[in-house]
Amino acid sequence: MAEGKHFVTDVAIIGTGGAGLAAAFEARGAGARVAVLEQAESLGGASIISGGGCFIAGSPLQESQGIHDTPDDAFEDWVKWGQGSADEEWARFYIEHTLHDLYFWAESLGVRWVDVRLQEGNRVPRWHRPDNNGLGITTVLINAVHNRGITDILTSTAATKILTENGRVCGLEAVNTKSGETIEIRSKTLVVATGGFNANLDMIREVRPDLRGRKIMEGAGVGATGTGHKLVREIGGYLTHMDNIWFYAYATPDYRDSRAQRGLVFRHTPGYIWVNQQGRRFHDESRSGGASASPALMAQDPPHAWAVLDSQMAAKMEVADPYYRSGAKIRRDRVQELLDNSPYIRRANSFEELGRKIEVDLPAFLATVERYNRACESGLEQEPEFGKPLNQSKRFDTPPYYAVQLFPLARKNFGGIKTDLKCRILNKYFQPIPALYGAGEVTGMAGGHINGRAGLEGTMLGPSIFSGRVAGAWAAEEAGFGPGFIGKPNRP
Ligand SMILES: Cc1cc2nc3c(=O)[nH]c(=O)nc-3n(C[C@H](O)[C@H](O)[C@H](O)COP(=O)(O)OP(=O)(O)OC[C@H]3O[C@@H](n4cnc5c(N)ncnc54)[C@H](O)[C@@H]3O)c2cc1C
Repeated sequence: MAEGKHFVTDVAIIGTGGAGLAAAFEARGAGARVAVLEQAESLGGASIISGGGCFIAGSPLQESQGIHDTPDDAFEDWVKWGQGSADEEWARFYIEHTLHDLYFWAESLGVRWVDVRLQEGNRVPRWHRPDNNGLGITTVLINAVHNRGITDILTSTAATKILTENGRVCGLEAVNTKSGETIEIRSKTLVVATGGFNANLDMIREVRPDLRGRKIMEGAGVGATGTGHKLVREIGGYLTHMDNIWFYAYATPDYRDSRAQRGLVFRHTPGYIWVNQQGRRFHDESRSGGASASPALMAQDPPHAWAVLDSQMAAKMEVADPYYRSGAKIRRDRVQELLDNSPYIRRANSFEELGRKIEVDLPAFLATVERYNRACESGLEQEPEFGKPLNQSKRFDTPPYYAVQLFPLARKNFGGIKTDLKCRILNKYFQPIPALYGAGEVTGMAGGHINGRAGLEGTMLGPSIFSGRVAGAWAAEEAGFGPGFIGKPNRP
């Protein structure tokens, strides 16, 4: 190890996704000196490659489209969707603050909300998309942090230990991942905003023993390796609901990953069908979310499936990964490169040939496609087998046909480090560990398990940014700066 460096600051923050950036912005705004660490070479974490969608209730964008929404309706949907395991106090806190402390706050920094979409489990559209997706909103946050005059931003610097003195957190140790130089930061308070652990299959299988021996794929940002969870656990922080992992079904292995562990989520392929190894459909593919499609996929034997597309459908396919998409811009040439080169994707000019290539039960597979085509031609509103609405479907009639192999992909962590409403990290007695705060996906997006077992979508980035603001403001307050987080709830 090279000779160490020493820093002294008021508030130290680990991680520069939406949570860490929002925390830095608030803490600096309160007048504290701030030092920010990021293990990657650049800022942004999973947030910058995300779809950017944020769950917001009662916005002007909704109103402009004639959508009436209230925090009470949103809360009811949230709790129901969370299957009884959402943290209702945190859910209420977040939902009531989405209008003023997320929607308008982000706008005041330069975010433009351009789109609002309906997602499974919501009675009205609430998934608000910022201009240029996660790249757009996270770039705005990065600029806001720079504009606030925060200069101690250490990239390629990984936190390795949280330091304590007399039971109180007093800083951290870190290492420069390029030079090996060690760094010690002494701070009055510390915010952990290190993201999730879905880029760490060992950790996933540790908390989900039922998945041992099954093929699952890493699907979070590459930095989501769970180091923050370990650092906090080492000093007595309490981890909760760790088995609440949000899987996606519409994902295929990333053949460019030499470790063969990462997966790619692909979407916007209306009309495609999924078949199991027996050549049969098993689900209404329009219900593609983590609460419906993923359990259906995992129940297949063997637990994988094939998404079947014709070339018109393939032309609309989007891949949610920075190699295939920059912000809202799709790299169509690269999507085609994936279709042409992935060993997990087969192509054929007829369904007989495709069925042989994917080694499914051929007569059953051909009958499945035939039945689906007949349903599309019949003018029915829904196909009869699983009730899939056919308004976005068409006959499979444009070769070449593709079969894309699907395996479950771990995308988001709905459990994590337990905090109170000030984002103070709690110990096993549910008492705050002095001077230690947590926000974002490392805290199951906020509080420990704000979503519960299932999320209404947009309920990851939104709560990560919001809890980042809360954590930064209270960490500054404990360090002697500002009044803590106040915000403005949206109540009648
Ligand atoms: C492709 C994709 C699309 C998504 N789309 C959406 C969406 O549309 N809507 C939605 O709500 N959610 C979405 N999500 C989820 C959402 O992006 C995340 O839950 C959210 O961004 C988490 O923010 P965060 O700040 O907690 O963590 P991150 O953004 O992951 O940031 C954590 C940072 O901490 C760093 N770090 C980790 N350990 C250390 C260490 N020891 N030392 C220093 N640095 C460290 C990491 O490198 C990383 O940069 C998506 C996720 C992915 C992967």
